Amino acid sequence: MGRDLSSLDITVLKGVGPKVRDLLNKLGILNIRDALTHLPFRYEDRRDISEMINASDGAVQNFIGKVVSSELLDLSQGGKPVKYDPRGSRTPFRGRGRGGRSSLLVEAVVNDGTGLIKCKWFNQPWLAGKLRKGAKVFVSGKVKRTRWAPHFEIDNPVFDLIDEKPEKLETNEKGKEKALREGQVIPVYLSTEGITPKKLRSIILGALEGYGAEIEDEIPADILKRQGLPGLRESVRAVHEPPEDADIGAMNRVATPWQRRLIFGEFFMLEAGLAILRRGRKVQKGIAFKPVEAGLVNRLMGELPFELTGAQLNTLRAVFDDMSLPVPMNRLMQGDVGSGKTIVALLSMLRAVECGHQAAIMAPTEILAEQHYINIHKLLEGLGVHVVLLTASSKSGLKEIENGEAQVVIGTHALIQEGVSFKALGLAVIDEQHRFGVMQRAMIKKKATLKNPDVLIMTATPIPRTLSLTLYGDLDYSVIDELPPGRTPVKTTSHAPDEKTRVYEAIRDGVGSGGQVYVVYPMIEETENSDLKSAVTGLEALSGMYPEMKVRMVHGKMRTQEKEEVMAGFKAGEIDILVSTTVIEVGVDVPDASLMVIVNSERFGLAQLHQLRGRVGRGRRESRCMLLYGGPLGEEAARRIEVMCSTNDGFRISEVDLEIRGPGEFLGTRQSGMPDLKVANLLRDARVLEYARREAFALIDKDPGLSAHPGLKQELERFWRGRVELFGTG
Ligand code: ADP
Ligand code: MG
Repeated sequence: MGRDLSSLDITVLKGVGPKVRDLLNKLGILNIRDALTHLPFRYEDRRDISEMINASDGAVQNFIGKVVSSELLDLSQGGKPVKYDPRGSRTPFRGRGRGGRSSLLVEAVVNDGTGLIKCKWFNQPWLAGKLRKGAKVFVSGKVKRTRWAPHFEIDNPVFDLIDEKPEKLETNEKGKEKALREGQVIPVYLSTEGITPKKLRSIILGALEGYGAEIEDEIPADILKRQGLPGLRESVRAVHEPPEDADIGAMNRVATPWQRRLIFGEFFMLEAGLAILRRGRKVQKGIAFKPVEAGLVNRLMGELPFELTGAQLNTLRAVFDDMSLPVPMNRLMQGDVGSGKTIVALLSMLRAVECGHQAAIMAPTEILAEQHYINIHKLLEGLGVHVVLLTASSKSGLKEIENGEAQVVIGTHALIQEGVSFKALGLAVIDEQHRFGVMQRAMIKKKATLKNPDVLIMTATPIPRTLSLTLYGDLDYSVIDELPPGRTPVKTTSHAPDEKTRVYEAIRDGVGSGGQVYVVYPMIEETENSDLKSAVTGLEALSGMYPEMKVRMVHGKMRTQEKEEVMAGFKAGEIDILVSTTVIEVGVDVPDASLMVIVNSERFGLAQLHQLRGRVGRGRRESRCMLLYGGPLGEEAARRIEVMCSTNDGFRISEVDLEIRGPGEFLGTRQSGMPDLKVANLLRDARVLEYARREAFALIDKDPGLSAHPGLKQELERFWRGRVELFGTG
């Protein structure tokens, strides 16, 4: 047994005092184990050094040479040389240069004895202090031929100062001297201001020399063997100090077995935690809701104006099965916009009510909560069920929630606020989960004073499978993959600013044929007045253009009552055109609305656009969505709009969204409450995730308390610390 490297502070390393420690902490490196698992994000192959005489236009090449001249130039003064002032180096250009933009350029000419190359660095004036005349440097980048001497240039090359007298590091096991110098493969680590890449490299290599041989594999050996993965020790060493014959191309693609081992390890920790959470709930005591003959569920079923789709029935059956068991339900119901999740939720709630419990549904916006209230109230009135609304602006139901008179409670996050307590909450439904995080999921359960309530989570955000395995990996899962019959797909088109007349015509046609129209303006922040102004201007323009139509507006700053009136008017068909901000994004259901116009659509994210489009095509009318954009499109915006025009498939759209934004932002890791992944990438490593999940769930099945795996248990607790208590509290 080696030392416990996770509780060994990094200050034991040479060169790490309190100041460097704080900086390392900022990088997430708290202990020796962290240092060993802080992996390079890139490898520079310095074994392949070109001679400058062989510089070739357009090629990416490495050179080593001496700086023969180095200047700091101010482009805003016509390229006048200026002196570098190290004391000003922290804010050399912030607000300093004219027009607030930097215009400082460092130019250095490097000579390797065979030729010269000019290197240019923009906006990094402090480099002038480093690239002194005479310094030996490694530079790497794309070579460009120019008309001026010395004829070859590299813009913003990667560079490294090379010590003439290499610092001696500790010797490795072969007794060979290791130095940080030319002619090697150099790992490049994510660093932070205050620690040079080289310093970080030397700290990590120091950790490797001192402790690399002691790191303990947290993954059981039989699992690694089955997966054909190398051990942790070997892997950690190889990623920091690639063997001489390593394929650096593969390392840069994160495609070596060593890297796969580390990725597997991270996913394994994630999935083992989820497996434990899931299992922990399965042994909790829950409420067994048994069907009641001629009860509320059957009575509402008998009154529905439509037949449930096969997918709705399957989901409902799964929910009822879960609810009938004496363990708490934790089920995710996923279904694209318009697939009819609400009715499934409502029937589930009635099952709880007919068994004498309360049921609650939490929606992400007031508008949506109110809409649910109106619909549900109407449906349940005849059945004699008492329905209560609880939002920030409507709190009169508090007492009834507490004394149990309220049987069905509909609300916003006001439901999980202090001072709300249910007499007998049996089922909590969370609508449009993507707006809520894992933490809120846990909070609503705490509101139940009696036993563990059942939880049903609904989301319209179709997420790729790899993501659902992480984000919802602890839940059971149903998908409504079928739309109610009679829907025609929404036709989507995009329109440049000079095509406004086509949009106006479409609005006229849409309303002329009895449909209703949404015109949505971006309002990223409800407080942004300029955004509100453009919506108001839009309202005025439309009212002027169509005096015969009723045009109204709804936005987040309006008083609740006003909002309600407008929404009710639109729903009743009294309003033809609803000008709105994104408050209507989620859930709003007006079947006669057949045209969705989105202004400045380039400013919306994909998930938002898909949600907004989901407001039309909900009835039998043929529906359209028109995406207006305000000017030349950036690459990402163009991609978003193109995808919207080419498919209505929410899964396809979310895949593209994930590609564009990357997993971190897509998930909103902080909000989702998931541990950060340091090595693994949900997109790139989807396959590894599947394997890790299978192994982790199998292991937790066999050894739920991990009593036979104390080392793993300890690492798991660390991995999840500050998020969820995995063991102990039961
Ligand atoms: P979402 O899944 O987006 O929340 P809703 O539950 O709001 O969708 O349902 C969308 C619309 O479809 C509603 O008007 C609802 O009444 C209607 N609906 C739901 N299920 C069916 C069905 N089986 N047949 C016909 N219409 C349905
Ligand atoms: Mg909905």
